[in-house]
Amino acid sequence: MNKTLLEENKAKLVAERKRLKSVLGHNTTADEEFPGGLRPQFMEAGTEQGENASEVEQFANDLSVNDDMEERLKKVEAALGRIAAGTYGVCIMGEEIEEARLRAEPAAETCVAHAK
Ligand SMILES: [Zn+2]
Repeated sequence: MNKTLLEENKAKLVAERKRLKSVLGHNTTADEEFPGGLRPQFMEAGTEQGENASEVEQFANDLSVNDDMEERLKKVEAALGRIAAGTYGVCIMGEEIEEARLRAEPAAETCVAHAK
């Protein structure tokens, strides 16, 4: 594994983890009625029928965006875990992951051939 690339990607992953955590923290507020105690904030869009519909839609969008970011955060943290464990840059099938792929996607867990 290229040590320079490893250090670069570690820095990228740490920065991305920090960004995701701050964005996720910003978009949620403590609310014990909501599963996990977190509730995405959504716009107060008025009381008319159509406005309520857009409010619900906005809420659903926030939930789905939050889910995507939670997934991404898990991936980033898993990659940082592999760096700590000394297994970073190895495909789940055992071979080394191409450097170009790791440059494009620091959190990659497979080589190009085994990517979904
Ligand atoms: Zn592979």
